[in-house]
Amino acid sequence: MEKIVSLCKRRGFVFPGSEIYGGMANSWDYGPLGVELKNNIKQEWWKRFVQQRDDMVGIDAALIMNPKVWQASGHLQNFSDPLVECKKCHFRDRSDHLGFPDLKVEGISEGFNIPPCPKCGSKDWTAPKQFNLMFQTFIGPAQEQANVAYFRPETAQAMFVDFKNVLDTSRKQLPFGIGQVGKAFRNEITPGNFIFRTREFEQMEIEYFIKPPQNDEEWNGVFEMWRTEMKTWITEVLGLKWEHIHELEVPKDELAHYSKRTIDFEYHFPFGLSELYGLAYRTDFDLKNHMDASKQDIRYTDPQTGEKFIPHCIEPTWGVDRSVLAVLCEAFDDSNPENVLLHLPAKLAPYKAAVFPLLKNKPELVEKAREIYKDLQKHFNVAWDDRGNVGKRYYSQDEIGTPLCVTVDFQSLEDGEVTVRNRDTKDQPRVKISELTDYIKKSLQ
Ligand code: ATP
Repeated sequence: MEKIVSLCKRRGFVFPGSEIYGGMANSWDYGPLGVELKNNIKQEWWKRFVQQRDDMVGIDAALIMNPKVWQASGHLQNFSDPLVECKKCHFRDRSDHLGFPDLKVEGISEGFNIPPCPKCGSKDWTAPKQFNLMFQTFIGPAQEQANVAYFRPETAQAMFVDFKNVLDTSRKQLPFGIGQVGKAFRNEITPGNFIFRTREFEQMEIEYFIKPPQNDEEWNGVFEMWRTEMKTWITEVLGLKWEHIHELEVPKDELAHYSKRTIDFEYHFPFGLSELYGLAYRTDFDLKNHMDASKQDIRYTDPQTGEKFIPHCIEPTWGVDRSVLAVLCEAFDDSNPENVLLHLPAKLAPYKAAVFPLLKNKPELVEKAREIYKDLQKHFNVAWDDRGNVGKRYYSQDEIGTPLCVTVDFQSLEDGEVTVRNRDTKDQPRVKISELTDYIKKSLQ
């Protein structure tokens, strides 16, 4: 993991946040290459799940919503983690992470072997208390209770709150979904593991609405459809090996307050098996609560029968930052320490190709290479490199996952062809300059 963190910093994927001020614990900034990788993931997601599906539309809602939203959704009451503090050294952690039982379900039984503090070994803990994870702020200048608001802890609620507006404007019929990509904020007790758990992160979420099911098969069919979609995304878009994924069927007594079934997709990160994505059947919990709390009729009217009802909802949810981290972990290859490689899927790579003149001090080569570079820039994000020798440039591009390197040499000036070196196969075919754009496009399919 340290090697990946160090490469991310050295090459401009991810930097420690506010570093010139000594940093800020667990805050990270995406650098020039990181923002490209992250944007490519978000764009692929949007294309695949919003634009290319007839049963989907997207929204982009405010980060700070009316606080009544969080009252109705149950977040004000329930969105908390159990916190314990070591009385000796004041180390704090989530009690469930330390191995205490789930207090809601089991409570601490007599004879329970209390876990020692990982810092000082003491077993003298404060009683667990629920700590609400929402970030609070104030709207306007007066810092008083009436002006309290919260940064959204998930993007999901906006899809429920905007449900009626989306329905009225898009004229979608059930089943259909609303997707959103955006920031969420959680005052995590134990952030850490690089960008895995941070207090500010991005989510890509879908709320997929269905008719109230008559039996379990009806909702389970849609649940399974999204399960397959998520699997395909993981393997085909992110390029993660399926054997690196574990699907955890969350036991009934550990389900979130709104869920009837949840599957966590866990990935074998270098620090252990941990949640990458989730899929949940939220029933009609959210729309029902918002209808009760807002006193607005947000029911769906069946166009055939005229019947009015509250739809049920299946929620597939993807963390953007955890996607970036999983892709980096999967792609990282230092089996040859002299030639560290990122085997990024071409579609996700920050640069689709790099263009080099064979020699920097030959104006005719530089001019031709520059012309090709400018032309490719109209279609793809491409890199320019004229430092050092071609071998060093290959290594440098391999390390940031650039799939193809295009070299313009003296022969190119005569035959109109360039050498295109492949990051993974190391093949170096000659390709006509006039066919280069199509060649790169094909490599992205
Ligand atoms: P965890 O159990 O790891 O705290 P969660 O079950 O609370 O996660 P959800 O509420 O289901 O997470 O959020 C949906 C997705 O958002 C997660 O699958 C994950 O990819 C991402 N996510 C959640 N919390 C964080 C965080 N603190 N930092 C980065 N990504 C996060």
